[in-house]
Amino acid sequence: MNVLHVCCAPDLVSTVFKMEELRDSKFFFYNPNIFPEEEFFRRYKAFKEVCESLSVVCPEPSYHPEDFSKILDSYVDEKEGGIRCSKCIELRLKKTAEMAKSIGAESFSTTLLASPRKSVKLITLIGDKIANDLSIEFISGNFRVDRGKLNTLIRGIYKQDYCGCQASLSEKEKEREIRDARDRERLERDFGDLVDLWRFRGEVVLRSEIPVNDISELKKLIGIIKPATLFDDLEDAELKNKRWLKTGTYNCRILKEKDQ
Ligand code: SF4
Repeated sequence: MNVLHVCCAPDLVSTVFKMEELRDSKFFFYNPNIFPEEEFFRRYKAFKEVCESLSVVCPEPSYHPEDFSKILDSYVDEKEGGIRCSKCIELRLKKTAEMAKSIGAESFSTTLLASPRKSVKLITLIGDKIANDLSIEFISGNFRVDRGKLNTLIRGIYKQDYCGCQASLSEKEKEREIRDARDRERLERDFGDLVDLWRFRGEVVLRSEIPVNDISELKKLIGIIKPATLFDDLEDAELKNKRWLKTGTYNCRILKEKDQ
């Protein structure tokens, strides 16, 4: 038997798609790094939904942030991808290997190998070392599927927008503040009379609310404001048959009357 450490639902979907044999593993959702607690349960709920769709047993949730607090305290200022992450991966893999040993499993693995933000090489090094220490096999490989395929596979499944710990959450918030300030500045500089459109950032915006006719101007504006959705209430000929408005740096979903 194999024990599969599951870090999140999207990576589990990718893993079982790429490595079908791992579907029969015993799943282990051990992620004391996740902060805050509500986020842990949000990710657990998504994991449970995937288990249900795969018709496999979902383990009960168990949240132990105290297991991770020493790592966080020691390396809180490290950038994502540095030593804090190596320790975090090691903690989760070691616990998985110990659990696998305790139930007599021959091997262990992790869905972290499907994460586009993690290094397969680093995870393999850590996993192999633990495997060697505990005399058990570590199943490694690249469990990623391409982004387009993955987006289809995980439609409707909760997908987190930061890695998991408090430090990665703060890093993401800082990045967002910088992005917001930069885009707001561009809006004021290039579309000074339309700064009011900023209120649609992350929201649904009607095509009729945007008083520009030229498609390249529209793209530029959408790329700055970054609304969640562009609702084409004008049936703009330029948007005909388009589901996405690609601006170069930002792709905005287009909704039409008939989608309602
Ligand atoms: S950024 Fe991610 S991998 Fe790194 S320590 Fe935080 S939760 Fe763990």
